[in-house]
Amino acid sequence: MLDQPAARLPVSQRTNPERSFTEEVRALRLGDGEIFRGEGILAVTKAILQSGVAYVGGYQGAPVSHLVDVLVESQDLLDELGVHLETCTNESSAAALLGASINYPMRGCVTWKSIVGTNVAADALSNLASPGVIGGALIVVGEDYGEGASVIQERTQAYALKSSLWLMDPRPSLPTIVRCTEKAFELSEATNTPVMMELRIRACHVTGEFVARDNVPPAISRNHRLAEPAAHNYDRISHPPSTYAHEKIKVEVRQPAAERFIVEHGLNEHLPGERSDLGIIVQGGITNVLVRGLDRLEVEGKIPTLVLNVTHPLASDQIADFCRGKRAVLVVEEGAPDYIEQAIHVLLRKRDIDTKVYGKDVLPMAGEYTAEVVTEGLLKFFAQSANDIDLSKPRERFEAARAGRAEAQRLLGGPLPLRPPGFCTGCPERPVFSAIKLLEREVGKVHISSDIGCHSFATLAPFNLGNSILGFGMSLAAAGAVAPVMQKRTISVMGDGGFWHNGLLSGVASSMFNRGDRVLVIMQNGYTSATGAQFIPNTSGNRRDGETTSDIAATLKAMGVGWLRTIRTYNVGTMLKTLREAMSTDDKGLKVIVADGECQLARQRRIRPQIAAQLKRGERVVRTRYGVDDEVCTGDHSCIRLSGCPSLVVKPSPDPLRSDPVASVNNGCVGCGLCGEVADAAVLCPSFYRADIVQNATWWDRLKWKVRSKVIGAMASA
Ligand code: SF4
Ligand code: SF4
Repeated sequence: MLDQPAARLPVSQRTNPERSFTEEVRALRLGDGEIFRGEGILAVTKAILQSGVAYVGGYQGAPVSHLVDVLVESQDLLDELGVHLETCTNESSAAALLGASINYPMRGCVTWKSIVGTNVAADALSNLASPGVIGGALIVVGEDYGEGASVIQERTQAYALKSSLWLMDPRPSLPTIVRCTEKAFELSEATNTPVMMELRIRACHVTGEFVARDNVPPAISRNHRLAEPAAHNYDRISHPPSTYAHEKIKVEVRQPAAERFIVEHGLNEHLPGERSDLGIIVQGGITNVLVRGLDRLEVEGKIPTLVLNVTHPLASDQIADFCRGKRAVLVVEEGAPDYIEQAIHVLLRKRDIDTKVYGKDVLPMAGEYTAEVVTEGLLKFFAQSANDIDLSKPRERFEAARAGRAEAQRLLGGPLPLRPPGFCTGCPERPVFSAIKLLEREVGKVHISSDIGCHSFATLAPFNLGNSILGFGMSLAAAGAVAPVMQKRTISVMGDGGFWHNGLLSGVASSMFNRGDRVLVIMQNGYTSATGAQFIPNTSGNRRDGETTSDIAATLKAMGVGWLRTIRTYNVGTMLKTLREAMSTDDKGLKVIVADGECQLARQRRIRPQIAAQLKRGERVVRTRYGVDDEVCTGDHSCIRLSGCPSLVVKPSPDPLRSDPVASVNNGCVGCGLCGEVADAAVLCPSFYRADIVQNATWWDRLKWKVRSKVIGAMASA
């Protein structure tokens, strides 16, 4: 039961006891006057329940996965309130969910990771924004921006501007985040416009507290169903000629109404300061970084600051009033292009306000605004606009700290090496890339079309496999124009999450439709592992009824894929043979290999508590480990280059006559067997051995051990 193939575990075995949200679920039940303590993203989750949402949905992605993850475990609470939860198969379906608020006065909230998720949702978002909504619609996007981000560096602001969606960017403080969330629904209803709320990593994970309110059961819900559908109203349909009117309403009615609402409800914040001639306008989400910079320069509380918790629309009168009479204003806006700064320039010029606007001239156009970056920008701003402020001491400290870091780097012999992410120890996806490496030894380099997911780590050392990444589930489509011009077939690699997200239609259907002669490897690990092991359609056991929803191989067969193999990933030899066959078969259609192996991280989380319970009951438990025989290892290290397992390390050779270090397996080994498989498939030295560690051994185990020890001892002394 511990080692079932990925897609065939019963649902009771699928839960991760180590990853439980019991505390968070309890926090969602807090009532009037109780104190909520926790992270920003959980505060948003509580705030949407306090706002009377009728439905919630989303697609997982950092840094907002927590919102849906916690609600999945709060089904009892949602049932009591009558709130519908939809775990969507992609962001497009999450955005379309908000269609409920077009015709019905129902509040809804969906979530995903931006910018990639917003790209996927873009079609539905345009069609939602055009007719607008009568029930409050909120989209919580994880603004994965900055130099630790996992996606392309672009801003959600562009979507807010182009589709006339309002964009909130709350200051990372729990009361502000909660107030903005609740006000977002009111703003949405007051202006018939969906509202987006972007939360950077620092806002999602900021911790704090706020005074909770009771959750509000929605008036229309699963518990209070509608007897009749909404009356037909062509104005609510995103189709010409309604769309021509929608465009005008957006700019002539909805935007002015939104600007009024923002001011009347105090959504932006004014932090007072002593200097009447200077000011700072900052995106709410990076206010804490700005405050840190001002504090370092000992000018905190001196410069009036306008915190834009709403960055679209800009409350133009409020901004003009803030700037009027000031000599200079600094706009602190993270990321490119400088949408806000440009808009402020325009609105001031149109009102003949001659305040000098600083922004991207003293701060970098692109890249994350860390405290150091912002502090340096502030120093430049003050140097150019207010040289009466004596910053000599803070500047000295800032320069000294920077010099200290440079000196530390020099002593370390250069910048610290980067620590790019990599496969977990024992990952089931690593063996597939070992097999591809071996294949390339035979057939030469192959064009590899990569995808989003853990398997993208294969684009890094030691595999260095992959020529492009075009989006989640897009690898097969991305090979569309490469495959016809290649003498060798292309290989596209896609995860099962990517397959359901987009790969099935954009890749498989399109390739079949175009009679594409391509190879596709689908990593069937059973979850969207990279985002926290959320369930997907082929996960064994749907969260509602325990029945598995869809099977990848059956789906492919139904679509007409003729060449289809399901291979257990750890069998490197079989995988290599299958890849070889896929690359050389006379079949000119799509060839799919479903590489089956449960995510090792999820597996370890699943089996560890089971093993602990077995040991406690005194039951026999066998743990498999691998090792390297020091005396046999040649010190060639091909095993390390071909598997890349972090548990495979080097150590000095025990043989004084050999200077090369030998390979060694450390205690992190989870016994997946890949190193032994690779050694066998690649015909490396026979130095790997497998050891079964038996705990709570039986009399039979002990007897076998005694006999074996005697025989081996006798052979050794012979
Ligand atoms: S999370 Fe799972 S699939 Fe991803 S690298 Fe780790 S073991 Fe592999
Ligand atoms: S050392 Fe070998 S058996 Fe152990 S986890 Fe790594 S690849 Fe798997």
